[in-house]
Amino acid sequence: MHDIIVIGSGTAGMTAALYALRAGRTVLLLEGNGIGGQIASSPKVENFPSIKEISGSEFSDNLFSQVMDLGADFGFENATNIIDNGATKTVKTDEGEHECLAVIIATGLKHRPLPVERAEEMVGRGISYCAVCDGAFFKDKDVAVVGGGNTALQDAAYLSKYCRTVYLIHRRDTFRGENSNVKALEGKENVKFILDTVVTELVGDDMIEGVKIKNVKTELSGEIAVSGIFSAVGQNPQCEIFRELIELDESGYVIAGEDCKTSREGIFVAGDCRTKKVRQLTTAASDGATAGTAASEYIGI
Ligand code: NAP
Repeated sequence: MHDIIVIGSGTAGMTAALYALRAGRTVLLLEGNGIGGQIASSPKVENFPSIKEISGSEFSDNLFSQVMDLGADFGFENATNIIDNGATKTVKTDEGEHECLAVIIATGLKHRPLPVERAEEMVGRGISYCAVCDGAFFKDKDVAVVGGGNTALQDAAYLSKYCRTVYLIHRRDTFRGENSNVKALEGKENVKFILDTVVTELVGDDMIEGVKIKNVKTELSGEIAVSGIFSAVGQNPQCEIFRELIELDESGYVIAGEDCKTSREGIFVAGDCRTKKVRQLTTAASDGATAGTAASEYIGI
């Protein structure tokens, strides 16, 4: 029996564990995929207060070791359900089940698939969701990045260091991502902006050889030859498994305010999977602090 089980080892989950451990609670941190969540695959973090620049992997490695040094238990397990027994909760996973007094859900977001036929079957055959992980496979090659948020902009900047040409394909003519990330691309000769444009078809049978594209304003179609496509069209919350237990909004985010309390006593939520406006590293850390403290107070011993 642990005091608190944290589901998800992104910035929100690990910060929640940090605060709960420092409040004297025992904590089990569960993670089903890679340690560190989204930020672990971000090439560069430049907007966390007091850290001018750090790689996402270094940021999350530091946080993980900080939490483990404080005595967290860790399980590489996928949570599949939470049972509310009243004073205790049971977290079921693909490996078994664990008892605790309070749960913090910090499951974050998962990649939205590229909205084109065969996108999922071509992952690993030219389509990637992680420039930092897979960029090296495309050294001196031509690649496309699809999306207009900070992930797409940062991926394009990262890939421009290795690839011959980076086509940034975005469905509008303005970017959702930060202006400083757009500016960082503007001077790069090997980055070509293809705006107001969507991908309509993947070219290549076994491996990606190109993309068919269409301009949404002129309706003109074309094709560009690329060996890789980095998809960065946003993310969806990973909370559907909790729908029977706690209230989710119509997009699947856990409904909770700044206090990180869900609709059920003893179950808290932190980070990007919560209803909120600003989803950033700093707000994930902020939620982690709030949820870790609130869960510790809820236990009240
Ligand atoms: P995002 O901000 O939601 O951007 C997704 C992009 O994909 C948008 O430009 C969107 O276009 C486009 N898109 C969505 N659906 C599409 C479709 N069906 N077809 C074509 N394009 C589509 O996602 P993100 O870039 O992954 O970022 C997620 C969050 O993490 C954001 O809050 C971001 O600021 C944050 N982040 C922070 C850092 C950092 O701090 N270092 C790094 C990366 C990400 P529209 O703009 O037209 O909707």
